[in-house]
Amino acid sequence: MSESINKIVIVGGGTTGWMAAASLSQFIKDKAITVTLIESPDIATVGVGEATIPNIVGFNKDLGIDEVELIKATQATFKLGIEFENWHKKGENFFHPFADYGLKIDNVDFHHYVNRAKLAGNKHNLQDYSFACALARQGKFAQANSDPQSPLADYSYAYHFDAVLYAEFLQKFSVKRGIEHISANVCDVQLNQMSGFIESVQLADGRKIEGDLFIDCSGFKALLIDGAMKVGLDDLSKSLPCDKAIAVQTELVADPTPYTRAIANNAGWQWCIPLQHRMGNGYIYSSQFLNDQDAEDEMLATVDGKTINNVRHFDLPLAKRKVIWHKNCFALGLAAGFIEPLESLGISLIQSGLAKLYTFFPDKSFNVHDTAEVNRLHNVELDRAVDFLALHYKLTKRDDTEFWRYCQTMPISDALTHKIAVYKSQGQIVMYDNESFEEASWLSMFTGFDVNPQRFDVRAKNIPLELVEKNLAQMKASMNSAAQQAMTHQQFLDKHCRAERDI
Ligand SMILES: Cc1cc2nc3c(=O)[nH]c(=O)nc-3n(C[C@H](O)[C@H](O)[C@H](O)COP(=O)(O)OP(=O)(O)OC[C@H]3O[C@@H](n4cnc5c(N)ncnc54)[C@H](O)[C@@H]3O)c2cc1C
Repeated sequence: MSESINKIVIVGGGTTGWMAAASLSQFIKDKAITVTLIESPDIATVGVGEATIPNIVGFNKDLGIDEVELIKATQATFKLGIEFENWHKKGENFFHPFADYGLKIDNVDFHHYVNRAKLAGNKHNLQDYSFACALARQGKFAQANSDPQSPLADYSYAYHFDAVLYAEFLQKFSVKRGIEHISANVCDVQLNQMSGFIESVQLADGRKIEGDLFIDCSGFKALLIDGAMKVGLDDLSKSLPCDKAIAVQTELVADPTPYTRAIANNAGWQWCIPLQHRMGNGYIYSSQFLNDQDAEDEMLATVDGKTINNVRHFDLPLAKRKVIWHKNCFALGLAAGFIEPLESLGISLIQSGLAKLYTFFPDKSFNVHDTAEVNRLHNVELDRAVDFLALHYKLTKRDDTEFWRYCQTMPISDALTHKIAVYKSQGQIVMYDNESFEEASWLSMFTGFDVNPQRFDVRAKNIPLELVEKNLAQMKASMNSAAQQAMTHQQFLDKHCRAERDI
């Protein structure tokens, strides 16, 4: 039996470092393991990453964090999904809810009945059969119905929160639960000359911190996994066209929407992420088609409200780390690679990285097969996530700028080509291993981009068309009327979790 891990060292105190610390504080309970987090007092965190997907709710809940307290502390708002504006064609919008559409009938997915009715020549929009879409359209928010059979139960929500406040919240939480916090700069990393394992990190103040397992959360610097262990990156820029970002915060001029807005611009897309105290705005674009100044001008011309900080510029290294676990170093967050935030996946990948670490938690022998399996799973997960993002660009019908014309011709993976072809045939959705997005999300994209299958699941013919139409009409009406009765998002925040505004 090899010895157990006793000491874990986290380098970096951004969203990743503090999520890892908070989560580890729970994982190490009843184990003889100590955790130390080292964070530079001089190097700022990336400061973006404010839109999430629903598994963040479970992450906080599993830690025992009180939801209302968290929302107030991080100026959070609720997110039912993403409104995609001008992506398919200019002037057309669609919504990607965190939700299924309708309920299965006789074990056949609901969308086949809608496709059947559409193929019969009747006008339908799948979005009319999602309660989350109805709420979002009306600017409303409600918690899901507790009866899982209800069509009003079939949705989840996530948050928009202030990234800096979230890290601060988790810092307090973690330190209270015994995580050691060191504020210092790491200036060197000592490797064992024989094994190549990390033995310790050297701090600029002279201290040396030893450990058994090192978690690299040092952001794009990737101090340990890259700086010390020289694990390089695999380029993803062929699959994702945007390599630059700008971000700016503005004053809120309207009630916050219960969703993120992703607006297709001339050479990329712009985000609007509403918090309780301000709006986060950004533009993700391709340097091949737009220069930084023009990007800034284009974004600033359209943001609502006065800017409250300077525009920040980011180069986006679109790449995945060749392996995220190498010897005794595990990389998370930006140190593990970067895919663009179009579907707010960054924070979720931190969670799934941690989940893999726990499933394959090492002892001091660091079994190479376990390590390889984690790397394999991560690799597959990233490839499928990249496919999902690439789909957003590839399916556009926009041809008004060079950028969008390029997107229509850009190369995509064989796996994605196959998935699109199968959907076009009869509306079936291919799901591969370790997909970050469920069938309903793929369906949102296909229908949002008006990809219409030639046929539908033949079993959907077992119900007479008139009955299908009647059920669809009833469902649409009941969802709209339930949404009408819900509180506005702002009323919901005011009633349950209003944060102090002037901070
Ligand atoms: C433009 C943009 C938009 C994004 N939008 C989203 C989004 O909407 N949703 C989402 O889920 N994700 C988003 N992401 C990703 C998200 O921002 C990151 O996943 C998240 O913030 C985690 O960052 P991090 O903690 O890994 O790195 P950072 O925030 O960069 O933190 C790095 C930490 O390492 C420390 N450090 C660095 N060097 C040293 C040193 N020598 N010694 C000690 N400490 C050191 C720093 O002090 C800091 O504490 C976005 C990313 C970008 C670039």
